Amino acid sequence: MKTAIYPGSFDPVTLGHIDIIGRASKIFDRLTIGVLNNSAKTPLFSVEERVNMIRECVKDLTNVDVTSFDGLTVDFARKCGANAVVRGLRAITDFEYELQIAQLNRVISPDVDTVFLTTNLKYAYLSSSSVKEVAYYGGDISHFVTPYVEKRIHEKVIKG
Ligand code: ADP
Repeated sequence: MKTAIYPGSFDPVTLGHIDIIGRASKIFDRLTIGVLNNSAKTPLFSVEERVNMIRECVKDLTNVDVTSFDGLTVDFARKCGANAVVRGLRAITDFEYELQIAQLNRVISPDVDTVFLTTNLKYAYLSSSSVKEVAYYGGDISHFVTPYVEKRIHEKVIKG
């Protein structure tokens, strides 16, 4: 049984993330998406809201589950019985950052490997922060997120 985790902030989940999830779910028998409860960042959505949005987006993928975590990614991987960490790569800037984290994780936990999936070119420019910025200024975000997430963003940005 090949089990992987896909950790991230997902604030909020975009079509770029969903593309990576769909592809990883075909490579691994089981994929657990870990929403990081990072006290150093002030997210737009609470960790529960982020988990719920992803659950809604992946409800048709039977081998994928979604949960939150805090602490070290490698500890979360171990808890999930996973020996692989999936991360997405968009550009060389992602690579530099991701390579450093992957190497660090490998030193502290040699039994956990990082697997990089390159972005679908359709979503290479897409990030959670750019989606939030476009939404904040009233732009159309329907090409970036699912209709369900779009609705949640509008509620949040309009109602605060
Ligand atoms: P983090 O704060 O951990 O970087 P993100 O939610 O921004 O969390 O991203 C989670 C993972 O998804 C990262 O590996 C990131 O590189 C990847 N990712 C984000 N957006 C895209 C995209 N458009 N295409 C492919 N991978 C992406």
